[in-house]
Amino acid sequence: MNLVPEKLLHEMSSPGRIAVSLPACDVPETPVPAGLRRGDLRLPELDELSVVRHFTRLSQKNYSIDTHFYPLGSCTMKYNPKVNELVANLHGWRDTHPLIGDEFSQGALELIYKLQEGLREIGGFAAASLQPAAGAHGELAGVFIMRAYHVARGEARRTKILIPDSAHGTNPATCTMAGMTTIPLPSDAEGGVDLHALQVALDSATGEIAGIMITNPNTLGLFDRNIETIAKMVHDAGGLVYGDGANMNAVTGVFKPGLSGIDVMHFNLHKTFSTPHGGGGPGAGFVGVGQELMDFLPGPIAAKNGNKYALYMPSRSIGSVKSFYGNFGVLVRAYAYMRMLGAEGFRRLAENAVLNANYIKVRLEGHYKVKYPRRCMHEFVAMGDIAPGIHTLDIAKRLIDYGFHPPTIYFPLIVPEAIMIEPTETENKETLDAFVEVMIKIADEAKTTPDLLHHSPTTTPIGRLDEVGAARNPVLCFKG
Ligand SMILES: *Cc1c(COP(=O)(O)O)cnc(C)c1O
Repeated sequence: MNLVPEKLLHEMSSPGRIAVSLPACDVPETPVPAGLRRGDLRLPELDELSVVRHFTRLSQKNYSIDTHFYPLGSCTMKYNPKVNELVANLHGWRDTHPLIGDEFSQGALELIYKLQEGLREIGGFAAASLQPAAGAHGELAGVFIMRAYHVARGEARRTKILIPDSAHGTNPATCTMAGMTTIPLPSDAEGGVDLHALQVALDSATGEIAGIMITNPNTLGLFDRNIETIAKMVHDAGGLVYGDGANMNAVTGVFKPGLSGIDVMHFNLHKTFSTPHGGGGPGAGFVGVGQELMDFLPGPIAAKNGNKYALYMPSRSIGSVKSFYGNFGVLVRAYAYMRMLGAEGFRRLAENAVLNANYIKVRLEGHYKVKYPRRCMHEFVAMGDIAPGIHTLDIAKRLIDYGFHPPTIYFPLIVPEAIMIEPTETENKETLDAFVEVMIKIADEAKTTPDLLHHSPTTTPIGRLDEVGAARNPVLCFKG
C-alpha cells in the first residue's frame, strides 16, 4: 500500500508539460466555432509516464476475480477462463458483422444455435432465445412473454405476479417495468415459499394472477422442495411460473427446472456460464420457455434447416429486445465454456459449487449464526451480529483489510445482518481455508478488539464511505 496519499491528476499537473509531440501543422488551423466551447478546458498537463502510472495504479486498486477471492453471494463471481477470451478474439468471431447476412454467417449462427440448444437442454425447456443482454433483461423479456400469453388468450386482466420476500430486487422491478403489479409472499420457517400464504394470495386475486416469479435455489441458497406443488397451485389458478435462473451453479446437470413446472426462465451467462460481468455489461441473459410459450420468444432465434443455419422470428414474438443476435462476443465465451465442460463437467460444476459452499458454512457455523441451518446449495446466508455493537458492515470492511472482497451484505432482506457467501466452484481448498481463517479471526476480534472492526478498512485510500450521502447527493461530474 502507498504511504503517500494518492494525488489527483490535476495536482500533479505542471504548466507546459506534455505527453505528446506532434509534427508542425501543415494544414490551415481552424478555430473551434464560437459557442461550441463552454469555457477553458482545465486539463492537467503531464508527461506520458506519469499518466500511465496513474491509471495503472488506479486499475490495480480494483478487486477482481483475477486478483482476489470474491465470495459475492447471488452474484457468482467465478473464474472467467482465459481460453474463452482467446476464442472470442479469433478473427472470424471478433471481426464479423451482423449485416453480412446468413449465408456468410453460418459459423456464427451455428454457434448461437448450439449454445441455445445446449442451454435449453440444461434447463429442460422446449425453446429458447439468446437475445437479452443481462439477467434483468431476460426477466423483462420473460414477463413480457407471460403478458403476451395471457393477452393472446383474452385474459389481459391477469396482471398480478407473486414474488417471495427472499427474491432478488430485480424481480419486483422487472414486474413493475412490465406494467404488472406484485404481491409479496412470505417465506416459511424452512426458508421456502409459505404454501398457505401462497394459497391465500392466489384466492385473493382470482382471475388476475399472471403468475409467480420464483428463484430455486432461492437467494438464501436453499432448494425449495415444494417447487412442483407451488407450480401446480399457480397453474391451477391460471398463472404461469417464472423461474429466476440467474444462478444455476448448484443445479446444472442435476435438476432441470423446465421439468419441475417452470414455464419460463432466464440464465445469466455471466454467472453460471463463466462470462465476465463487466461494468454493467455487456452480458447475456438466455430465456428458455415451455411448449406453450415458444411462439412468444424474442427473436431472431437461430434454427437449423438441413445443414444450414438461419434466423427466424417466432410467430407471435414479443419482438426484438436487443439489436441483431444479442451480445455475440459473450455467447462465444459461454459456448467455449459449454464445450470445455460437457454434460459431465456441468454436473461436477454443480457438485463442487455445493460442496464449497457447505464446506465454508460448516467451518463457520461455530462462529457465525446461520439463520436456516439446513444443507445449502451454492451459497448460504450467515449473520454478522456476533458481538455487542458489531454489525455486518464492520465485518465486511474488516475483510478488506485482510485482502478479501466482502460477500454480499444486508441481502436477502429477510435475514437481519445478512452476510451472503458464495465461494463458487472454481476456488481451491486453500483459498476457502484462508477465507474461513480470516472470518474466524474477525469473529475473535469482534469480541476482544471491536474497535479494530469499527475503524476498518485501514489499508484502502479511503476509509468508510458515507454511503447514504453518496446515494442522496451524488456528485456525478468531476470538477477539478
Ligand atoms: C444477478 C441476479 C439477477 C440479475 O442479473 P443481472 O444480469 O445483474 O441483471 C437476477 N436474479 C438473481 C437471483 C441474481 O442473482
